[in-house]
Amino acid sequence: MKIIAIDTLLLRVPTPHPIRLAFAENQLVIVTIRADEGATGFGYTIAFGGGGGEAIQSYIETKLKPLLLGEDPHFVERLWERMYRGDRGVRRVGLAGYAVAALDIALWDLVAKAAGLPLFKLWGAVSDRIPAYGSGGYPMYPVEELIAEAQRYVAEGCQYYKMKIHDPDPQVNRRRVEALRKALGDKVRLMVDVNQKCNVLGAIRQAELLEEFDLVWYEEPVLADDIAACAEVARSIRIPVATGENNYTRFEFREILERKAAHYVMPDICRANGFSETMKIGHLAGAHQIAISPHVPHELSLHVLGALSNGFLAEYIDWVPADLFEGMPHCEDGHFRIPDRPGHGIALAPGADKKYRV
Ligand SMILES: [Mg+2]
Repeated sequence: MKIIAIDTLLLRVPTPHPIRLAFAENQLVIVTIRADEGATGFGYTIAFGGGGGEAIQSYIETKLKPLLLGEDPHFVERLWERMYRGDRGVRRVGLAGYAVAALDIALWDLVAKAAGLPLFKLWGAVSDRIPAYGSGGYPMYPVEELIAEAQRYVAEGCQYYKMKIHDPDPQVNRRRVEALRKALGDKVRLMVDVNQKCNVLGAIRQAELLEEFDLVWYEEPVLADDIAACAEVARSIRIPVATGENNYTRFEFREILERKAAHYVMPDICRANGFSETMKIGHLAGAHQIAISPHVPHELSLHVLGALSNGFLAEYIDWVPADLFEGMPHCEDGHFRIPDRPGHGIALAPGADKKYRV
């Protein structure tokens, strides 16, 4: 089999509530890999808030696509190395990591479709049903809306809910967590997301004020660039730290793990150089007895979680408008059933390319 064409497409997609509260739109960089014998693979990456989609598309077109054309798509690991090592002037973090990810996701989709298997079974499945946590809790919600959103997820069967804590006054954040804890009772477990907004001392002080709420994790306390700072926070507080949505390679995650900077790692498949690197990060975490709970695009993350025995929770947030993708899995009883279709199971919905094209 040979790759005969790679098409890219840039989409501008208005975000549904509640993501709209943070970003009015996202850009999606779509990749379709076509092989002879009629096989195709579908991949994408998401530029939240729309920043950088054009740059990702251009990097794919000019730098990465020529490395794959004419090659056998079955050799995913070889092609991933070609892309990863194909540029000595730009490290595969940031937008370049997004670009490699989109192509790697499409390669795996193509290979799994050719094998007639969903990805998680191709990799050797551990489960076809993954527990989900409701995610949202935007800082602009009044407390009543925060509680109402959490209760909607609980009504769908979710036993975990994550809220953001962004107020510069740690007492304000504490009062919001306390109100939510009271409203939901002890059966629902909570986590909080700092989204890199604290420095080390601020993160430690904030965590001390939240200790009594039995939180599952305390997410991205400090700048994702500074793993030493994250490790200092993790050493100093009594809530498990989660981090990794803004880290891109197994080398960054190795540092997170060796420094004991997190108890949960959360790579984003669309950022962290695709399925290939995310699976390696997952196995590396397993060697440290650390669980993996990937960031946002759950429709892709489910396959990773279904193939790793240290997989934990899928992040559940409605980031996709109903007319963008076909095959989105639905949450039932707080769990996602992983689709049994060959590949990752997601395709562009008819007309979405015209409707959302930039
Ligand atoms: Mg986060």
